[in-house]
Amino acid sequence: MEDIKIHAIVKTHELALKGKNRPWFMRKLVDNLRQSTKGSGVERVWQGQLMVGLTLSGEECWPEVKSRIRDVFGVAKFYKAYDLPRDVDGLKARMFQLLEGRSFTSFRITTNRADKRFPMTSQELNRDLGAFVKDLTGAQVKLKDPDICIYVEITPTSFLVYFDEVKAYGGLPVGVSGKVAVMLSGGIDSPVAAWQMMKRGCQAMFVHFHSYPLVDRTSIEKAGDLVEHLTRHQYESNLYLAPLAEIQKKIILSAPPSYRIVLYRRFMVRITEALAKKHRAQAIITGESCGQVASQTLENIAVVDQSAGMPILRPFIGSNKEEIVNMAQAIGTFPISILPDQDCCSLFVPKHPETKADLGTVLRLEADLSVAELVQDALDNTERRHFASPEAAALDR
Ligand code: ATP
Ligand code: MG
Repeated sequence: MEDIKIHAIVKTHELALKGKNRPWFMRKLVDNLRQSTKGSGVERVWQGQLMVGLTLSGEECWPEVKSRIRDVFGVAKFYKAYDLPRDVDGLKARMFQLLEGRSFTSFRITTNRADKRFPMTSQELNRDLGAFVKDLTGAQVKLKDPDICIYVEITPTSFLVYFDEVKAYGGLPVGVSGKVAVMLSGGIDSPVAAWQMMKRGCQAMFVHFHSYPLVDRTSIEKAGDLVEHLTRHQYESNLYLAPLAEIQKKIILSAPPSYRIVLYRRFMVRITEALAKKHRAQAIITGESCGQVASQTLENIAVVDQSAGMPILRPFIGSNKEEIVNMAQAIGTFPISILPDQDCCSLFVPKHPETKADLGTVLRLEADLSVAELVQDALDNTERRHFASPEAAALDR
């Protein structure tokens, strides 16, 4: 159908559209759709009534545009729409061609008259087109659970006709909920925690701690690959690579082995918080889950939280490993996460770390360390890596 313009019609969850945040939400969604589809053959992104439209330069662009839109948070579902003149007879003349290749025994027509000046009501057009399609195909009208739904959107300039719904993740457009600092290990849980927060409209900045040169750079490479993968949802990311080796050396000299992990964590939190504040992030995100490993007990969580001056949010606190693994597989981070690495937290840790860390003990141990100085030193030696997605968009910036 070379002569017909094709659009992607994007719909959000109705609830998210309520209230005074709606214009801001929609603007951000339009913006994010524009970013995500750069270089994929989208000519124009426009805002319609309760939807966003993307005009394609040709039908051949659809597969790529489809895969890009699916990754945009805030999109609940979308359709490939045919742009036809506002002429009922013209639409009928095209119907056979539009329905070609589809087999169905029941259908319904769902008209939305976005332009109320159109002379027929939605009901009238539903009935008129319904009778026509019934004659044309022999299929029956079925309002509930039909084999196919034929949508007709009456806009001021055209009929937009579409059929198959493509489901997306829903959520909120990245950016509407502010910014968070994700503590990103090379493991399975923290990248999925980042994804969850991005889906709730948070822009994520990433902080990865490494013990290079005490260990190799594998965890750094993995963190980079994970951020690169996740950037498809927010178009630009910064990954901060913070060195932990000097701090770890000091800790093993002065603290009992069982307290090392808790102390590492408190330093990580302090450094992450400093980076977060500098870049206006409002919360720290981790991939922890209650009781998953010895260091993730309620007692230890309390002791770690005590070192923070901003909320530490743990989206998976009540999740099982299996649930997190399933999500990691679904969002594509799993194959990266399971590559072997040398993680900083596995360095100098005992077989049996303390599961009920005592805050008094921790504070006494930290009194022997120059905490502020060590934190500042790590910050001074933190490197930043920048990521952009898609590649074509990076060239524009
Ligand atoms: P993950 O799969 O995210 O590594 P995990 O089950 O292995 O989680 P831990 O290694 O105990 O759990 O880490 C708990 C959390 O602490 C991680 O989810 C992450 O948010 C943070 N974290 C651990 N190691 C690092 C690191 N090297 N850099 C940044 N954050 C880290
Ligand atoms: Mg880990």
